[in-house]
Amino acid sequence: MNPGPERLARARARMEEAEVDALLLSVGPDLPWLTGYEAMPLERLTMLVLRRDGDPVLLVPRLEAPRVDDHGHFVVETWDETDDPVARVAALASGARTVAIGDHTWARFVLALQDALPTARFGPANAVLAPLRAVKDDAEIVALQRAGAAVDAIAADLRTMAFAGRREVDVHRDLVESMLAAGHERANFAIVAAGANAASPHHEPGDRVIADGDLVLCDFGGTMDGYCSDITRMYSVGEPTSEVRDAYAVLAEAQEAGVRAATVGTPCAAVDAATRAVITAAGYGEQFVHRTGHGIGTEAHEDPYLVSGNDTPLVAGHAFSVEPGIYVPGRWGMRLEDIVVATDAGPQRCNHAARDLAVVG
Ligand code: ZN
Ligand code: ZN
Ligand code: ZN
Repeated sequence: MNPGPERLARARARMEEAEVDALLLSVGPDLPWLTGYEAMPLERLTMLVLRRDGDPVLLVPRLEAPRVDDHGHFVVETWDETDDPVARVAALASGARTVAIGDHTWARFVLALQDALPTARFGPANAVLAPLRAVKDDAEIVALQRAGAAVDAIAADLRTMAFAGRREVDVHRDLVESMLAAGHERANFAIVAAGANAASPHHEPGDRVIADGDLVLCDFGGTMDGYCSDITRMYSVGEPTSEVRDAYAVLAEAQEAGVRAATVGTPCAAVDAATRAVITAAGYGEQFVHRTGHGIGTEAHEDPYLVSGNDTPLVAGHAFSVEPGIYVPGRWGMRLEDIVVATDAGPQRCNHAARDLAVVG
């Protein structure tokens, strides 16, 4: 996706407001969001220097220059193997009193740049870019919907799959391959947690063999055309117990309440409160151990966060997960997750796969 020059202009306007003289971006999602170019996460430094005045300059290792398409929006400079790229960045940023640096930048470069620019005050690039990246334009919403549709189809396919007898890692590997086959350029994660393992919300899939009677949590997502997918669905191997069935009804009601609450103008914290109220009323409040959701875009987790204490009101274009969970240590865990976009016409889901507890073999 070519973001065009308007994002650079908006970033500059935001720098003005935040009194940032120079923005320095390296690896991570800020650079591709702003320029369409993603830095390779290597020991050779790639860095965009955007000053409030002057042309943006992307400094790249010479051997990576053929990968760069400047779309005519920025100047590309290269450095050779024997050059000092930190000194080059320092020269480009010289005189800047306040520098905002991308939060994924490797510490070795941050420390070297702080030494090379001793009079500059360093702060996070998030202060400039997070509020811009959080509000998606129409093309970004379409990209999130397409990524959502791709994982919806995979979640639906799982309903016809035999889980019993397979290991968590086997299902994990299937999910990774399915995401790539469905058009994702990368799989970011694929949690498969069976039985008591699902009580750990970010369980690492292992050798546990899925058995009859297990409740299986599948939470997976990747990046498709630069934008992330993220979905969680639950599968019961054989008929669930009445305890699990009742708890799942509470979870589904909580998730629905969260989505309904996610209207423009509603504080993020109020969406969290909406899901939590349902789960707490059913007696599972202590078992809902995480926030309700996170923003999503070029990064799997970004602003805005749906968490108690975040009074940021939702605006049209905010995209985020609504993913309440209930976790009973030693026994079972469950979570239900959709990506939702706040719009002037109300909350709109990017995921439409069936939300009931699927009974599988
Ligand atoms: Zn998570
Ligand atoms: Zn997820
Ligand atoms: Zn999520």
